[in-house]
Amino acid sequence: MRKPVSELEYYRLMSLVERPGRYAGGERGARAKDWGAREIKLRCAVCFPEPYEIGMSYLGTAILYHIINRRGDALAERCFAPGDDMYRLLANGDGAARARDDRGDSRARLWSLESRMPLDAFDAVLFSFTYELSYLQFLRMLHAGGIPLRSCDRGDDDPIVLGGGGCMANPEPIADFIDAFGIGDAEALLDPMLDCLIATVGAPRASRLTALARIPGVYVPSIDSADPVVRQFAPDLDDCPIPVDYPMPGIESVADRAVIEVMRGCPQGCRFCQAGYTYRPARARSAEKTIAAARAMIAATGYSEITLQSLSTLDHPDIVRILTELRATFDPLRVSVGLPSLRMDALSRDLARAMRRPRESSLTFAIEAGSQRLRDAINKHITEDDIFATLDAVLEAGFHKFKIYFMCGFAGETMDDIVELGDLIVRMHGFMRTRSRRPMSLHVAQSVLIPKPVTPMQRQPMERPEVTREKQFYLKRLLKSLNNVRFNYHDVGASLLEALFSRGDRRLAGALLDALDRDFLPPTIVNGNLDPAPWFELAREHGVDTDEILFAERAADTPLPWSRIHYGITDNFLAREAAKYDRAELTDNCDEKCAACGLRCGGK
Ligand code: SF4
Repeated sequence: MRKPVSELEYYRLMSLVERPGRYAGGERGARAKDWGAREIKLRCAVCFPEPYEIGMSYLGTAILYHIINRRGDALAERCFAPGDDMYRLLANGDGAARARDDRGDSRARLWSLESRMPLDAFDAVLFSFTYELSYLQFLRMLHAGGIPLRSCDRGDDDPIVLGGGGCMANPEPIADFIDAFGIGDAEALLDPMLDCLIATVGAPRASRLTALARIPGVYVPSIDSADPVVRQFAPDLDDCPIPVDYPMPGIESVADRAVIEVMRGCPQGCRFCQAGYTYRPARARSAEKTIAAARAMIAATGYSEITLQSLSTLDHPDIVRILTELRATFDPLRVSVGLPSLRMDALSRDLARAMRRPRESSLTFAIEAGSQRLRDAINKHITEDDIFATLDAVLEAGFHKFKIYFMCGFAGETMDDIVELGDLIVRMHGFMRTRSRRPMSLHVAQSVLIPKPVTPMQRQPMERPEVTREKQFYLKRLLKSLNNVRFNYHDVGASLLEALFSRGDRRLAGALLDALDRDFLPPTIVNGNLDPAPWFELAREHGVDTDEILFAERAADTPLPWSRIHYGITDNFLAREAAKYDRAELTDNCDEKCAACGLRCGGK
């Protein structure tokens, strides 16, 4: 069995990096099982390809950690992406290219937080992918962890590298690096996959992968097959374990608070929202389970804030009861209950009052598009009357700080739509100023639309960057003149790169390897705006037509790179929704009337 990183090396490396707390572990709630225990048959590293501060805020990692560690025959330890300084030290201090040729036992490996074991000592290494711009961080982790990068270069003694998460709508750009993908919910996939790995311990790698590929929902890219891989999901969230005592971050993290998932999936069907399609159907956790788990979490962690997380929390059928009961418990303890971004048609005055929190009073609304025509096209069931009625309710309930989200770059969006958007923001700002009992503040955030796989927009082109920038500058100039308004917009360059890796195919693996060899900085740690040009250059060197991936409309009969992955939604349904986009026609949400998406979930 491999040994943990030596004390000497550990302290030497820790003394050389900027944020050693990222690699220290030992947090409250961390579980370090005995590696040598006879009952432990499988040792798993649960990895997230972003640094500790971001990774510790991701609920998916907590769920994987919890599911594996509650088994008696397996252990799970956490590992996050090293900072740039630590990565360079682990890669022999001389850049990635040399270290790849110079892999030897003397080089310290990226280690797990619980037992400081090197990544290549684990039997299985599980990565969650939620953001395509994390792919280079993922390769850095493999490399710093001593694991051969390509699946085809791994031997029987190397860990099995597994992948899953939100990016699985199109896993092709990283298919060369992953031994097996789990497509769907961890609660439905993980136990069968772990059982399979335990049952095949000692068998040749190829036969283990063949065995994994027989599990519904598992995609093994190295095995040629035309059979669809069908997403697996947990039908009832009440049967899914809740990680109430996940380790608390040892250093400040992006979201340092308790988080409970109250609903998975979303009944709304916004046509741009990939998660809205890939996590269908909407499944609510019962009020009883939610309230009990929230109380247990606060008791176990001592946090002073808990977030009720989901894609659309106000669509939970028992949200008023949950908020009312949690506030009755938590208000005296000065624990606040937070909600993620909200829809503007779902907020009654009762609900607004139930949401009011003792210390914080900021609310986030996702409006997405400024003109009614575009809101209808994207199937966002919100009218201006809804927007102003909701504002009235929340201002009356005492809220005075707001964040609103918009997107730009929708197909067919014109400058007239952007002018309408600016006009709406100006009127919302005026309304808030006159109705707010306290000085109000408004944060307007605008992101860039990426037509994502497994949405009705998957065949649409992305907007040209010069057009998007013109729209952003118009809004920037307009909103500069408003008091107490802050305007942020997403960098177009980063969005183009994200689009390339979300819509591209397996040829992008070569570009990722070259980016590692040529020592590109992972996009997420680049400060300021991102220039995608060097990345596009690499992609073109590998035969990728970046313009076609980004800006070409894909005809109905053009095969898509992600066509082997089936989320249960039919192509016909996506095509029907795309046609309704063009006509700016609404589709009922799943709570009102089943739109026959193909899942046959038993909705109305
Ligand atoms: S089958 Fe009907 S109710 Fe179920 S997710 Fe699809 S559209 Fe919604």
